[in-house]
Amino acid sequence: MVIIEDLLKLVSLTPKDKANILLTAKGVKPGGDFSVREKAVSEVKNILSEFNLHFRDSRGNGILIKFPEDINRAKVKEFATESNAYYIFYFTKEFSNFELLDENPGKFYGYPECCIRKFEGDAYEGETITLNYDPIEELSFIYHAPCFQNFSRRKFCMKSILLGRLYRDVVKSESKALYHAVLEEEKEQWKNINELKKLERKLEKAGILEESGFINFKRLKKTISVSLG
Ligand SMILES: [Zn+2]
Repeated sequence: MVIIEDLLKLVSLTPKDKANILLTAKGVKPGGDFSVREKAVSEVKNILSEFNLHFRDSRGNGILIKFPEDINRAKVKEFATESNAYYIFYFTKEFSNFELLDENPGKFYGYPECCIRKFEGDAYEGETITLNYDPIEELSFIYHAPCFQNFSRRKFCMKSILLGRLYRDVVKSESKALYHAVLEEEKEQWKNINELKKLERKLEKAGILEESGFINFKRLKKTISVSLG
């Protein structure tokens, strides 16, 4: 497909940014964003138009998503001006009135409800899934922090895993090259997975990491004060 080839050629976007655009264009994700330097703005806007995606940028129009805290809004604005970058939001036409969204922007990005709620500070309530392998591929294709993940027990937020599978499969079927590029880009963060598992087991043993995925802060504080003498 010619448009995908144009997308792949862009050097101003990372593979994961490109996958995000593709997923939104395919209608499996409501919207996404990326930041680019000023000189790349017109080429990326052209690509978004080729994919029939709507977009707004952070210059002139201001920040268009209503973030829950003013501080977040200020941070994005600061980022956009300081680094001389354009922060571009794109979305399918169903989201063209997203300025009116008064909710967590996680909905705009298509994050699972359970993960949004955990991020907002709610007690964890989502369903989990236990796997017999490390879901590196699934987790490489999502754009949020899952509300639950424990690598040593291989237990994860089920919605995050299912979403990761869907995103991976869509990207893979549209472009094998992009699928491999995303995995290559994400490789670095999974390099120390066995170290992470060891750490999780240690923390569980010490009662700091609970089976529910929560950190026991009381215990953590006690441990820190003991080790500091
Ligand atoms: Zn979740």
